[in-house]
Amino acid sequence: MQQERNLHNLIKNMCVCTAIVATAIPFGAAIAAEEVNLYSYRQPFLINQFLNEFSAQTGIKVNIVHAKKGMLEKLKAEGRNTPADAILTVDISRLSALANAELLQPVSSQILNNNIPKQYRHPDGLWFGLTLRARVVYAHKNRVKKGELVTYHDLTKPRFKGRVCTRSGKHPYNLSLLAAVVDGQGEKAAEAWARGLKSNLARKPKGNDRSQVKAIKEGLCDVSLGNTYYMGKMATNKKNPEQKEWASAVRLLFPKLGEKGTHVNISGAAMTRYAKNKANAKKLLEFLSDDAAQKMYAEQNFEYPVKSGVAWSPMVQSWGSFFPSDVNLETIAKHRSTATKIMDRVNFDG
Ligand code: FE
Repeated sequence: MQQERNLHNLIKNMCVCTAIVATAIPFGAAIAAEEVNLYSYRQPFLINQFLNEFSAQTGIKVNIVHAKKGMLEKLKAEGRNTPADAILTVDISRLSALANAELLQPVSSQILNNNIPKQYRHPDGLWFGLTLRARVVYAHKNRVKKGELVTYHDLTKPRFKGRVCTRSGKHPYNLSLLAAVVDGQGEKAAEAWARGLKSNLARKPKGNDRSQVKAIKEGLCDVSLGNTYYMGKMATNKKNPEQKEWASAVRLLFPKLGEKGTHVNISGAAMTRYAKNKANAKKLLEFLSDDAAQKMYAEQNFEYPVKSGVAWSPMVQSWGSFFPSDVNLETIAKHRSTATKIMDRVNFDG
């Protein structure tokens, strides 16, 4: 009862809510009680299709609360009374913040271990990556020559003076990238990189990843940092067709990080510490890591499936192949506070 009230209050307090109801309940009314409660940072259009499929296959109803922000605070405030059994969110920084706040519990599953490469899951099963996005360089098709940019380090070279655009250095996406530089090259080199990047900026950091591509289109800069999926979102944007033009002005470059591959981040899932429907939550995580859901999930947002062997969507394939870094994201997450301090020291946004 308390649980229901909590869920009800949340639904009232947080933005959109969609209840996905099982389309097939195999064993009659008694089974209808099977459910799993999910807090999701991911939007309904991305997840409804495969959650419906999950309900159809298992008879487990998925109740979703879509949270735009404040998931950590919410889970903290609710403590053991939380109705949430599992969470879906993006970026390793958010997943590891939840883990560090002791709001998650380990899940032990051979299926998850088989489906998800080691570097994309927590060593103790506190969180699991489900889709991958690379943080890459958007480069103007003509103004950036082939071979001009091969590594992230190249962004700091004198030839890119006044040609680089990016969003805030304090955004989780950029902090994770800088944390990866700290991991690969040490704090001193990472600070030099951040300083060099800042000195090559065409303007103060502002806007989101897409608005940097707009700036490239408008001639304000030649290269920008951005997550891969925005290319697909812009190129297919019916609501804002001008974004198609931004996308067609650029191509994606997949820079290397020293000897290591391109920095990748995840969207992921986890079981909450106080989950009541543990078995159902585990089933849901396993379902999300398997072929059918992997394909749908990755395709919806132009991301890469985390499970190898699952086909990339044609759009994603068109960007070409690349070598992703194999550093465990938990290792990168540990450098996040160092990355934050570096961004402050170099006054990146100032
Ligand atoms: Fe994003």
